[in-house]
Amino acid sequence: MDNETTTTYRKIIHIDMDAFYASVEQRDNPELRGKPLVVGGPPEGRGGVVATASYEARKFGIRSAMPSKKALQLCPHALFVRPRFAVYKEVSQKIREIFSRYTDLIEPLSLDEAYLDVTDDKLNVGSAIEIAKQIKQAIKDELQLTASAGVSVNKFVAKIASDINKPDGLKFIGPSAIEAFMEQLPVEKFHGVGKVTADKMKKMGLHTGADLKKLTQDELTGRFGKVGKFYYQIVRGVDERAVQPHRETKSMGAEDTFAYDLTTVEEMNDELDKIAQAVYNRLLKYNLKGRTITLKIKYHDFRQITRNQSFPFPVGDLETIGNTAKQLLLASGIDDKRIRLLGISLSNFGEAAVKVKGDEVSEQLKLF
Ligand SMILES: [Mg+2]
Repeated sequence: MDNETTTTYRKIIHIDMDAFYASVEQRDNPELRGKPLVVGGPPEGRGGVVATASYEARKFGIRSAMPSKKALQLCPHALFVRPRFAVYKEVSQKIREIFSRYTDLIEPLSLDEAYLDVTDDKLNVGSAIEIAKQIKQAIKDELQLTASAGVSVNKFVAKIASDINKPDGLKFIGPSAIEAFMEQLPVEKFHGVGKVTADKMKKMGLHTGADLKKLTQDELTGRFGKVGKFYYQIVRGVDERAVQPHRETKSMGAEDTFAYDLTTVEEMNDELDKIAQAVYNRLLKYNLKGRTITLKIKYHDFRQITRNQSFPFPVGDLETIGNTAKQLLLASGIDDKRIRLLGISLSNFGEAAVKVKGDEVSEQLKLF
């Protein structure tokens, strides 16, 4: 048998709202519909910047982060409105609620963009393409907005895919198509490759993924530093980065209700070993680590308590999970207790990443 047949792929969706701020403004104000609209700082005075331009405005070459003054030059009849972040935030929450019907593994990148891991979707839809279709339809029906979706087996390709058929697009790039897709991709389209790096690459004669692919990993790290390793993998369609849910919205765990009440510490520890193994397997599957381990105990009288311990760094190994749960159990006092259920969960995922994202958001808001 060929090993390939047993490979299981992740199912990753990248959802990106189309001209989000501008679309919300056009939705809420009919007078703005069908017109070149700029959401951002006003063109008068100094420092106004385009946050989002409607598709009608993009035809004139208006782009995000462009000075509003320049936008007005490009399109003198463009309409300007100031952003209403509170409204966008609210809409963003509603979009996230739609995502959460399918998965809890949601990694927001901004108010209008998120990665979803639907490898095990809650509704057992199974097909990531079908889930993407349903999400797009729900966003249309419930929020009167359009989104574009990219579907693939990793974050990198899913993100690029969502941009291909914009607006209102849906693009699937399956495992067998990834390498060819990456080879034809211009280097500036590589997510994370900024203009400076792209120019540097072009000067070296590197224009597409295929050019990058000719270099060894050592050559790539020699020229671009640590990120060279990422380039090496990504041109081969390899991106193991997990979808990292927001720490406050996510925990991952397992629990077990027993056929009879546990009364000895040996029985309890045996059960905790099994549960820790189940939690560990799930964490491994999603490549997650967490800073907090929580133990849940339900007694024979249905009284329930939780005890947790936080670490200064993310943990996810079997030994730490099992030992911490056992210590928390002992500390909770088990004399004369009859226990009906035990559960272990990890939370506080990817705090560093979330914090960085938060900083980026506030940086962006400062522009207006
Ligand atoms: Mg967008």
